[in-house]
Amino acid sequence: MTKNTGCVLIIGAGGVGSVVAHKCAQNKDVFTKIHLASRSIGKPNAIKKDIKKRWGVSITTHIVDADKSKQVAALIRKIKPALVINVALPYQDLAIMDACLATGVHYVDTANYEPRDKAKFEYKWQWAYQNKFKKKGIMAVLGAGFDPGVSNAYCAYVLKKHFDTVRFVDILDANAGSHEKAFATNFNPEINIREVTQTVRHWANGKWIETPAVMDKGSVHFSFDYPIAGPKESYLLYHEEMESLVKHLPGLERMRFWMTFSENYLNHLRVMENIGISSIKPIDFQGKKIVPIEFLKAILPDPASLATKYTGKTVIGCIVTGVKDGKESTKYIYNVCDHEESFKEVGSQAISYTTGVPAMSAALMVMKGIWSGKGVFNIEQLDPEPFLETVSKNGLPFTVVDYTPLPEKI
Ligand code: NDP
Repeated sequence: MTKNTGCVLIIGAGGVGSVVAHKCAQNKDVFTKIHLASRSIGKPNAIKKDIKKRWGVSITTHIVDADKSKQVAALIRKIKPALVINVALPYQDLAIMDACLATGVHYVDTANYEPRDKAKFEYKWQWAYQNKFKKKGIMAVLGAGFDPGVSNAYCAYVLKKHFDTVRFVDILDANAGSHEKAFATNFNPEINIREVTQTVRHWANGKWIETPAVMDKGSVHFSFDYPIAGPKESYLLYHEEMESLVKHLPGLERMRFWMTFSENYLNHLRVMENIGISSIKPIDFQGKKIVPIEFLKAILPDPASLATKYTGKTVIGCIVTGVKDGKESTKYIYNVCDHEESFKEVGSQAISYTTGVPAMSAALMVMKGIWSGKGVFNIEQLDPEPFLETVSKNGLPFTVVDYTPLPEKI
């Protein structure tokens, strides 16, 4: 298949897909043809209209069921993109990767594959594509959102600039924003609730240590004083970038991931768990099988709709302790993003914005040949400098300061 250089296919037109499309339109010297596809046409068309209004760029929209690899491959053959950005749901990762393999097109996503019937996200399914992508001579870039994504690049950046080896990493993710809803999730509710209700794991001295889920008795939390946002209760959580960073960072002794949750949010989670509405097990309902969490998703606010009233900031970054020439030091590298400013620029809240900007930036790295390679890559395996430069230029600059390591016991 002869590819249209500069042509990109974005799959998924939710909160993140919208930001990716806007950001590709802002970089139309690289993304000369932009195609946006989703399983129904309403959202892609609304995004198309907004992009034309804000940036004067025309994009093309399509319907595709990305659970069906053959449908995705047929669309790819029709429009011949150089690359596919998958910002649909983790369930579609493998079908879209298969379509990229069938057509010889590069692949970028922001979340690792997760089977529908098991709330378990792991890289093993996508890492298994390594040889197939190598053989086909194409590149898959996995987890190119903010976390995973920029958080991986932050680790790689401080390693490259300041250390020979890394001893400790704490990734801290604060959403200090307010959306005026009693309960809402900041990205797809189904995926979000599956993620945050899991048993927590962190890495210490060569093994995974399990602790209770964030809303359960015995969960590990402390108040961290975030730059600009101030002190926020932060909970130990398992997050997908830990799996690849543990594998790729030399010398790593401990890695933890922390996320802020309000007591109100946790109470809602507890109630949902207790009454079973966040369950992924199908139940009989009026003669039909339904999955409670899919029903819950349908009644919770659409995360993209939160943008109009969202105020406050997100602060996401990594505290990394490493060693250079036998001397130990600690750096804190982070970004602050403002919900209202994101809305003003592209009509989205900061969680979608902080995910969409890196996804577009990773695609730009591959389209321009700045990142090249055959096979499946996690972000920390690629040069972090040009990527973070592009992410910064496109709205998410970072700050690096000297810091003190977080204590081992919290
Ligand atoms: P949304 O639910 O808002 O959007 C998902 C989009 O994908 C919707 O347009 C949806 O269509 C579409 N879609 C779902 N199933 C299919 C299918 N079978 N075929 C075609 N299109 C489909 O999610 P978000 O935008 O909030 O999140 C998108 C992705 O980004 C998720 O994978 C999420 O995990 C990831 N993410 C990553 C982050 C990071 O930092 N790495 C942070 C936040 C999110 P419809 O509207 O019809 O349902």
